[in-house]
Amino acid sequence: MSYSERILTLPPYLFAAIDEAKKAIIDKGVDVIDLGVGDPDRPTPPHIVESMVTAVRDPKNHQYPSYVGLLEFRAAVAEWLKKEKGVTVDPKTQVLSLIGSKEGVAHVPFAFINPGDIVLCPNPGYPVYSIGTKFACGIPYDMPLLAKNNFLPDYDAIPKDVLKKAKLLFINYPNNPTGAVATPEFFAKTVAFAKENNLVVVHDNAYSEMVFDGYKAPGFLETPGAMDVGIELFSMSKTYNMTGWRLGFAAGNKDLIAAFGKVKSNIDSGVFDAIQRAGVTALTSSQQCVYEMNAVYKERRDSLVAGLKSIGIDAVPQKATFYLWAPVPKGYTSMEFSKLLLEEAGIVATPGNGFGASGEGFLRFALTKEVDRINEAVERMKKIKSKI
Ligand SMILES: *Cc1c(COP(=O)(O)O)cnc(C)c1O
Repeated sequence: MSYSERILTLPPYLFAAIDEAKKAIIDKGVDVIDLGVGDPDRPTPPHIVESMVTAVRDPKNHQYPSYVGLLEFRAAVAEWLKKEKGVTVDPKTQVLSLIGSKEGVAHVPFAFINPGDIVLCPNPGYPVYSIGTKFACGIPYDMPLLAKNNFLPDYDAIPKDVLKKAKLLFINYPNNPTGAVATPEFFAKTVAFAKENNLVVVHDNAYSEMVFDGYKAPGFLETPGAMDVGIELFSMSKTYNMTGWRLGFAAGNKDLIAAFGKVKSNIDSGVFDAIQRAGVTALTSSQQCVYEMNAVYKERRDSLVAGLKSIGIDAVPQKATFYLWAPVPKGYTSMEFSKLLLEEAGIVATPGNGFGASGEGFLRFALTKEVDRINEAVERMKKIKSKI
């Protein structure tokens, strides 16, 4: 038996090592507090579940869905983009349903990348940008996201010979794992940079609605000129606690959407219509459930930030996403400190370098446990304060 190089050259899966260490601690009887995974802990709001229940009973939803997506869902997307972002798209030609935005990230390089082409990927970043690139025989080029640049990529630092071969640019704000946000100026700069270098921009906006303190995250498509150069990927997963359902969408430039749709129509057969009907309900009904979840995440964030501060770790409270990106104490690597937290306090947090070398020196805490558990985690950290 022999395996493809594309799977043999995958980077070692750091999370597997963490899972193993976590399991060993659980087996010892420790009550582990897992702040590792970015998966909402609360259930999908009941009105969305109910609409799925109704849709699943209707035989008209039982057949192959349309490749590009149910027109009612794409129309709901267009309406939502207009209302929430002030962006106008034609639901028939500028919107595509996705089996979650991860599917979109993984497949989009197939539409734009020839073997040897370069894809600009944030580092630290969601691992699928570089892995999807490699699967399409492209070459990922890491753009470091550094604290001194507010975790935005420095386009001016990318060498000319790299830019000559670059075809695609992935960006992601609000950002996983850093919790950083982008300014409209940054997006305007991105549009100019893409036009200058003939790049397709894919903005992964999975956390578009997960915002705090009255902040509203600017999007890419609302930037003047963005519709000429890019598409934006949105996800129902984090916004509506729907990670298990697998529903997202792409919107933007008509020609790019058509090319991307061509790839998808040859790989998958779309999203179960009943799920898309539940998606219509999520997008078109009151967004109160989103605001309520945001208030919950904000309370958790504030507890964790205050707790970390009390043991001498200064983490900047993020304006968006359910990730707190905390610097590790002096004398520790990310891996060493996450090990200490796990072994001596029973807390799982993800070492920053798991998202790329430029994440070294940080830990990512996911605010995906109730506030009493977060407070319990903080109490346990106080007990290991002498080691920090
Ligand atoms: C969670 C996440 C996704 C995947 O979302 P799905 O819609 O569930 O596939 C994509 N990008 C980023 C940055 C994420 O954090």
